Amino acid sequence: MPVLVMKFGGTSVANLDRIRRVAKRVGVEVANGYDVIVIVSAMSGKTNELVGWVGETSPLYDAREYDAVVSSGENVTAGLMALTLQEMEIPARSWQGWQVPVKTSSAHSAARIVDIPPANIMAKFAEGMRVAVVAGFQGISPEGRITTLGRGGSDTTAVAFAAAMGAERCDIYTDVDGVYTTDPRISPKARKLDRIAYEEMLELASLGAKVLQTRSVELAMRYNVKLRVLSSFEEQSDGAGTLVCAEEEIMESKVVTGIAYSRDEAKMTLMSVADRPGIAAAIFGPLSEAGVNVDMIIQNISEEGRTDMTFSCPTEQVARAERALKSAVETGNINYSHLVADTDVAKISAVGIGMRSQSGVAAQMFRTLSNEGINIKVIATSEIKISVLIDRKYMELAVQALHDTFDLDKVG
Ligand code: ADP
Ligand code: ASP
Ligand code: MG
Repeated sequence: MPVLVMKFGGTSVANLDRIRRVAKRVGVEVANGYDVIVIVSAMSGKTNELVGWVGETSPLYDAREYDAVVSSGENVTAGLMALTLQEMEIPARSWQGWQVPVKTSSAHSAARIVDIPPANIMAKFAEGMRVAVVAGFQGISPEGRITTLGRGGSDTTAVAFAAAMGAERCDIYTDVDGVYTTDPRISPKARKLDRIAYEEMLELASLGAKVLQTRSVELAMRYNVKLRVLSSFEEQSDGAGTLVCAEEEIMESKVVTGIAYSRDEAKMTLMSVADRPGIAAAIFGPLSEAGVNVDMIIQNISEEGRTDMTFSCPTEQVARAERALKSAVETGNINYSHLVADTDVAKISAVGIGMRSQSGVAAQMFRTLSNEGINIKVIATSEIKISVLIDRKYMELAVQALHDTFDLDKVG
């Protein structure tokens, strides 16, 4: 029988009623003739609660124990979902990551899936089981410890299963009915897209659109998984939701496809560092060794052999970045007059494959922000995106203004 992967996020399994509701949806696909792999998230709010408990118990926690605690939310949902399906007389069984096994790297709290041997689950399907309910977000390291895949990681579990099991499709059921031109919670004018190219979805996700975890899109693109995002709260018809697919399969051609934002950015400036060969390596080497994800970088014009170096990184990594830079000063590798961390910034990005062939997008973006009186602090561009850092208080305003200027509420 063909295999279908269906993933249900936290709000879709937030309580027993909702679990029953989505189990019915699974029942429809079983009746359609599919063997179904259901990937579940923890009930909404649960993972945050578990993360909070770990932090309260041990501020500089052991990442292996973090994973032991934080992975547990998904176990509860998987068991409850299997029970619910059994109550509906659908042969179902739950699986934790290690039982499958979902083999991952040992990078605790941000592990990567390396292999999912399909044999165990396929053998159960052959015996008549119709639904394998798998706890998302978790796996097992080569050392035999439980790992987690980073926040939002159940999306990645789902796509990885679709690739490993040769599924016909991977359906991601969530609390919105597809991928929008921007977060519909920020802009009432956001428009649902029928299709979006892998490359664009990858950029939007990595720039903050949390509707899909970045790594899940990467995997879908690499293994050509047919990926659909749709609502678990609405009756579904064929062609519902948004299909994430190859660029060639898309007719709509706007220069900009979507606007993403991220409020978890910080801007760090090292004032007055020596402008000499090797200075960038001396600064960014230790940051990288400390695991700081540096995003944008600018080096200002130098005066009298001194320059300012600015970079951005996730807010939660500011303390780590400060520690790494201070120890680089102590070992005599760099020196600066002071280090300024601005944590009240947000990153806004415009994304679209049309930018490859059309110029003027950056100018239009900067003009629009200037008309709203919004100051740009840092700029970064790549082939299909332009990102700016601005004061966080202007974040919503900037998203809406850019959505308007690029006519994203209009089709075509
Ligand atoms: P789940 O719990 O189902 O995994 P998430 O909260 O992780 O759901 O992702 C869905 C959310 O992503 C939506 O509620 C929406 O606020 C947000 N989002 C951000 N950007 C977009 C976008 N461009 N299109 C749709 N949703 C978006
Ligand atoms: N429960 C995890 C989280 O909240 C994984 C997921 O929902 O995708 O990040
Ligand atoms: Mg999610």
